[in-house]
Amino acid sequence: MSIDLAATLADLVRIPSVNPMGRTDLPADILYEPRVTAYLEERLRSLGAAPQRQSVLPGRDNLITVYEPPGSPSRTIVFECHQDTVPVDAMIVDPFGAKVEGGKLFGRGSCDVKGGATVMLAAFARLFKERPVGSARVLLCYTVDEEHTFLGVQELMKQGLKADAAIVAEPTLLNIVRAHKGVVRWVVETPGRACHSSRPENGVNAIYRMGRLLAAIEAYAADLHARAPDPLLGPRTISVGRILGGVSANTVPDVCRIDVDRRLVPGESATDAGNDLESFLKSFKGIDFPFALKESHAPCGPLSPELSGPLVKEFGAAIDSVTGKHEVQVVPFGTDASTIAKGGIPAIVFGPGDIAQAHTKDEWIDLAQLEPAAEILFRFASRT
Ligand SMILES: [Zn+2]
Repeated sequence: MSIDLAATLADLVRIPSVNPMGRTDLPADILYEPRVTAYLEERLRSLGAAPQRQSVLPGRDNLITVYEPPGSPSRTIVFECHQDTVPVDAMIVDPFGAKVEGGKLFGRGSCDVKGGATVMLAAFARLFKERPVGSARVLLCYTVDEEHTFLGVQELMKQGLKADAAIVAEPTLLNIVRAHKGVVRWVVETPGRACHSSRPENGVNAIYRMGRLLAAIEAYAADLHARAPDPLLGPRTISVGRILGGVSANTVPDVCRIDVDRRLVPGESATDAGNDLESFLKSFKGIDFPFALKESHAPCGPLSPELSGPLVKEFGAAIDSVTGKHEVQVVPFGTDASTIAKGGIPAIVFGPGDIAQAHTKDEWIDLAQLEPAAEILFRFASRT
């Protein structure tokens, strides 16, 4: 029952599962995960497994399948992988063509993260077939909405997921990622009062107010940078990425808005970070007007390596037994692993493919990485 890795990946790439990420201008027939969910469900059923759906949003389900080993399992392992991809605008290869050339398979999701979905399915299928003595109980979890608001993994944890270790699929070139920063984003508005620009004294200029707030945020950025950095991930950072305000030169603006991005290190929460920024700004000279921080994007927590020490060693040994080498890394991008680790389950990130090709206009994966990745997952779960 060993599965054909390249053919399975090609199937998955040909089935669109685009996360619109808040956009409303994309064709409906490529959106969301239900077609991929149905495909994986069918494949798992054909193994004799009993996949269960967990509703996250209407038409968007996590898919959870249990492998029960012979005897009483010594531990439970989670294989977690998201089903969605980013949109396909401006791609220069057919996003759903799954073309193979020079040992690479091209298409949206090939690298992030349908390659990971494929190798997890393959390792799971092999466990089901061979039922190795001493193997772990494995929960294979395909989640929705990782690329936008992380609702799939949040639902998984809300339903009380319990396990001793979790491997989260993302492209890591068969290395281990044990830590990453988190991110929280806010929209901040300054209110004003509009009037004709010929009598500006009759209004309140929201852009002037924002100017003062921006100076305060710049001072806060320096303050953050001066704090003790995380030993692995470096300093906390904040950045203002966009500003919008005003309607015309002859109108005093009544509102100005900015988008703020704050990177979190282990030990920080999005709420604490927001409170800290707000109290800094409120006590800053010249900020004598109301403003509010509103989260504009679901925050992704930082992945702390605190719980995963033994897991990193053990999984590293499984990698070495297959490829002979691996690195233990920290990365700048967020993953579902932080949400799982926050629930008390040691979690690391691992998978075939290179994050450099994720979300790109010619996204591809090196097919030669699939087989070793599946073998590593199988060996880790079966401890052989
Ligand atoms: Zn991903």
